[in-house]
Amino acid sequence: MAKTTITWADASWNVTTGCTKISAGCLHCYAAKLAKRLKTMGQVKYEDEFEVRCHPSVLNEPLELKKPSRIFVDSMSDLFHAGIPEEYIRRVFDVMERANWHQFLLLTKRSERLRELAPTLPWPANVWAGVTIESAAYLHRADDLRTVPAAVRFISAEPLLGPLTGLNLEGVHWVITGGESGSGFRKMEPAWAEEIRLKCEAAGAAFLFKQFSAVRPKSLGRKLFGKVYDGYPVTSGVRCDA
Ligand code: SF4
Repeated sequence: MAKTTITWADASWNVTTGCTKISAGCLHCYAAKLAKRLKTMGQVKYEDEFEVRCHPSVLNEPLELKKPSRIFVDSMSDLFHAGIPEEYIRRVFDVMERANWHQFLLLTKRSERLRELAPTLPWPANVWAGVTIESAAYLHRADDLRTVPAAVRFISAEPLLGPLTGLNLEGVHWVITGGESGSGFRKMEPAWAEEIRLKCEAAGAAFLFKQFSAVRPKSLGRKLFGKVYDGYPVTSGVRCDA
């Protein structure tokens, strides 16, 4: 389990590593770049760099972490990648179900496989399901997400590469958005993020604005048209950002 700099999580838990590019948001995949670095540093998990690999040796880590944490599952991979066996995904869910003092955030671009497997998986209240939608070409991922019986369904619209005018937020509890960072970043218009915020407001979904697009977005602050948006979903009447 590693601490994370991701705004909306406390720790990352990489039960698998490696992935393959699947859509426009993958162009500057930070995980692929980091895996290359970690390989040169001799980290065993990355000896095959960014090839898809399961790591059963880390499965019990959340059970050993007693402090309730918001845990991002697979910041260095995609749990619903075709290369991950179903049986292994079930083992991951079994641990999440037992470690019920944590919140687990699953985020995927493989929304079709998520939709296919979802009816066969347990969905304890502490497991949240999310899909990435970086541009209008991937709006269908929200339809797949709506079918998942998770207590919280969320969308990561990041890196936001275009307006999401047709986005339907029915059944969606939370949207995170932000621009791309790093050299060669693709520009996000703040108006695209504002449009999503207004949709969240109308739909009663929480909204979190993470960052602008820039080489180093932190220097630009987090105010979208003058205000910081740090929304988190509400579940069972209790805010989940305790
Ligand atoms: S799905 Fe995520 S981890 Fe996989 S290549 Fe794309 S950006 Fe990287």
